[in-house]
Amino acid sequence: MKTPTTTDPAVAATLLNKLRLNQTFTSALDGERGTGNMARQVANAMWSEVAPTPPREPRLIAWVPEMAQLLGIDIASDPELAASIFTGAQPVNGSLPYAMRYGGHQFGNWAGQLGDGRAIALGELQDTNKQTWTLQLKGAGPTPYSRQGDGYAVLRSSVREYLCSEAMFHLGIPTTRSLTLCLTGEDIERDVFYNGNVETEQGAILCRAAESFVRFGSFEIHAAHREDDQLKQLADYVITRHYPHLVSGKPSIDTYQQWFNELLERTAHLVAHWQRVGFVHAVMNTDNMSILGQTIDYGPYGWLEEYDLRWTPNFVDLQGRRYSYGNQPRIALWNLYRLANAILPLFDDNTEPLEDVLSRYEPLYENLWNDTRAAKTGLKAYDVDRGDKTLLDDLWDFLEHGSPDYTLFFRTLSDAPADDTPQALAEALQAAFYNAPDHEQKASLVDWLGRWKKRIEADGDQQAQARMQCSNPKYVLRNYIALQAIDAAENGDFSVLEEVSNVMRKPYDDQPQHANYAGLRPDWATQRPGCTMLTCSS
Ligand code: AMP
Ligand code: MG
Repeated sequence: MKTPTTTDPAVAATLLNKLRLNQTFTSALDGERGTGNMARQVANAMWSEVAPTPPREPRLIAWVPEMAQLLGIDIASDPELAASIFTGAQPVNGSLPYAMRYGGHQFGNWAGQLGDGRAIALGELQDTNKQTWTLQLKGAGPTPYSRQGDGYAVLRSSVREYLCSEAMFHLGIPTTRSLTLCLTGEDIERDVFYNGNVETEQGAILCRAAESFVRFGSFEIHAAHREDDQLKQLADYVITRHYPHLVSGKPSIDTYQQWFNELLERTAHLVAHWQRVGFVHAVMNTDNMSILGQTIDYGPYGWLEEYDLRWTPNFVDLQGRRYSYGNQPRIALWNLYRLANAILPLFDDNTEPLEDVLSRYEPLYENLWNDTRAAKTGLKAYDVDRGDKTLLDDLWDFLEHGSPDYTLFFRTLSDAPADDTPQALAEALQAAFYNAPDHEQKASLVDWLGRWKKRIEADGDQQAQARMQCSNPKYVLRNYIALQAIDAAENGDFSVLEEVSNVMRKPYDDQPQHANYAGLRPDWATQRPGCTMLTCSS
């Protein structure tokens, strides 16, 4: 087997053959054992024991050294064993593999039982800081929740999730993490555009890690089936393990309210971050909303190129554009309403405490967004009395009409020398447009830049530029960049995957040798499926 190219830092870590996992989730919560992987409806359970299907030829093709180091496991010294363990071919000491049961609202409609249809958790591990992580294999074969799916994942979508969760982490945005990426040696059939064109793709398994994979939909399934005992069990587990600062002893109605409030705040922060960097999740169903306020389940996501509130990369959402860029903040609230409905029994069916919390979302989000916009433009603080609302609204109106590349526009603004005139700066910003702005647009940009420079000068703050450079990434994982890593990986070359991983480790830094990943989307990518348009097929 070819050794992966990822270099591992010197770690004093547990050898893989000594790895031992814990099982808090399955020990504390109701579940079912020994029931096999036949697709079915499950009742009164939060998990089902299920064995991964051992793949024919597991092969490690990439891993995240800093995660291996954090988790204290030595992957480097035995890549073959790593491939066996992180594809489920070889059982791990202490592991009770399981699939989670959950439901969810998909595209606005209650979809009933969903669950981990192709994800199998192995168990938990404490990191070097004593934080607990669950390790989960995505694409390890059928589970009771696979419905019509096959339980597998293809290399294409696994590379996308592997890269994007790490890119997100390095952007400073809450997310699940990647640990390893393996090929399975199996052929998988996928009808990518749901038009009858079935293609064979390479199977792959991502081992991902998170403090918890519980979703809003994990609560909804119990509410839908009036499983009040399990609902309370799950809430108490989530609060005591993942929100320990909220509780000493038994959670009360007050605790549940504080928890919901904190989750609402975390969710609002998460979406404000997405909007800041132009990330479109594209499938914000309630089963894809983390109970920790993290980005979870990377499917047909994308990154804004031309600024457009209505943009979504999700082919199946083109009609309604429910999960378009501009809708994300209000969809998050819609999802919080669904969760509030689900956890109502914890409040003895009194809606008031939940409504109180929900009513905080819109003002909170507005403040977060104004702070975000202020940081993106280098203001010390958002101040309505100094005209900041008008100043920022005018810029965002300009973006809507001029549609520059969102990332490049803000990065060019961030990198501009302080003594540039508005005219010179407007000139430099031309490079951020796919279609050159007309005369009128140019004039309005010069006017805005003049007002903005005055506002920055009035702050007299030496940190303005540094603040902008920390808010406006130079490198984001545009779909065409991920696709280059996928194309090469599908041909057995993992060097692009590694190069892209490395570039995305420092998204706010200038990396002159990687300028090719920081420019406008190239023409070839405009028409290529997988660059502007994707589906959930994975
Ligand atoms: P997603 O929108 O990708 O998060 O998936 C929605 C639901 O479909 C979840 O319950 C997944 O486990 C399930 N699912 C997606 N792909 C597959 C597959 N290939 N096999 C089985 N279940 C799947
Ligand atoms: Mg999902």
